[in-house]
Amino acid sequence: MALARPLLWRLAMPNTAHSVGSPSAAAPFGAHVYSLLIPRWAAREREADARGACSVPAETVAEVRVSGLLAAPLPRSEGGADADLFACAELVRRVAAEAPATALCLAMPLGNAGNLRLPDEAVPPEQRAQLRAGRAFIAEQVLAGRILAVANSEPGAHGSLERTSTEARLADDGGVLLTGDKSFATWGDAADFFLCAARTHEGKLDAFFVARDAPGVNVCTSWDALGLQTSASVAIQLRAARASHRFLHAGAIQGTSARHWSTVLLGAVFLGVGEGALRALGSELDSGYARAVVAERALALEAAWGFIEAVARADHAPAGPAYRERCQRAKTFAARAAVDAATSALTLAGGRAYRPSHTLARYLHAALAAPLVRPPLATAMDAIAASPELRG
Ligand SMILES: Cc1cc2nc3c(=O)[nH]c(=O)nc-3n(C[C@H](O)[C@H](O)[C@H](O)COP(=O)(O)OP(=O)(O)OC[C@H]3O[C@@H](n4cnc5c(N)ncnc54)[C@H](O)[C@@H]3O)c2cc1C
Repeated sequence: MALARPLLWRLAMPNTAHSVGSPSAAAPFGAHVYSLLIPRWAAREREADARGACSVPAETVAEVRVSGLLAAPLPRSEGGADADLFACAELVRRVAAEAPATALCLAMPLGNAGNLRLPDEAVPPEQRAQLRAGRAFIAEQVLAGRILAVANSEPGAHGSLERTSTEARLADDGGVLLTGDKSFATWGDAADFFLCAARTHEGKLDAFFVARDAPGVNVCTSWDALGLQTSASVAIQLRAARASHRFLHAGAIQGTSARHWSTVLLGAVFLGVGEGALRALGSELDSGYARAVVAERALALEAAWGFIEAVARADHAPAGPAYRERCQRAKTFAARAAVDAATSALTLAGGRAYRPSHTLARYLHAALAAPLVRPPLATAMDAIAASPELRG
């Protein structure tokens, strides 16, 4: 029981870095992000939730655009914050503890911006010109404060890129036109571009950035979800929608892209949600059982953060299958720890928390998205069960 107090105390300290999330990790972003922006984003998210709004609050969108965070992975000399994967994970984790939907939103463009750190040498010489052009497109957008969202998921694809059925065909003028249906495109109407996976006429998997306002793009405005309403994770229809740019080089979506950034950042988001739930429960628990459960959940979250930190600090390019698999495991472990923490927090709070509008219900509903986002829990666990190290 002696364990419970120090762990809880650390979780309850506002804007204080965890033992492993050292202050230096937060340094790329400046204190105002933590002391000014996050509390404002959290207050707006709460207020929008209470109103039943299903879009990212406009003032938050505006602040994200001018915050410089979208370009954070770029070197300082190029207008960024030189933020590596660990620094970005720490950022979204801390946003998530107070503003879960805003953190989920931030993870998407940061995942795309992670590709700005791919060196030319990550790909064979014949792909380097395409890679440079792809990076230049991303850099131009993020430096202008444009939001690069992600619309890879499709109805019934169960989070598998392999099941992508959106078609990309060549237009007469050499451009690329996309046709298909996408699901769960976080940011909704507030996005400037969506990264869209699609199949070429040869059946190969590729991806393209499509402008939200391109002809043939229909962004559904309705988003009726259990939680994370203000992430506006809507459906999109693409009907011969013209792509603005290819994603890096041909086939990069499954090849050398830094897609593990999204995996790690999503893990960090939901870990932050779990921490937020325990924090919201508070430390004034009068039951020894309750304190023991909270200590267990806090410990699991701390272990999950250690896993995320380990994979984030090991970021390298090109990332091979074994490293990507470890990133997926870190996200999976964090997702489970977050659901457990949020479930316990609500249960221990008692009947007063058994209302959809209660803070702990909001955290639980947010946490329940953790096993759904890529890789979905079943896919990730099946991969672990089938891994060679478990075979005799
Ligand atoms: C809160 C949240 C945010 C997300 N944000 C993103 C994001 O920004 N970008 C992204 O690419 N992915 C995003 N995802 C998707 C996620 O990564 C997985 O791809 C997805 O959750 C896996 O889908 P599934 O197997 O659970 O559902 P699926 O069965 O694949 O269904 C996905 C969606 O399609 C609908 N659907 C399923 N079958 C049909 C059908 N036959 N006809 C019509 N509709 C159908 C479902 O109701 C659901 O809304 C998000 C998911 C969640 C929960």
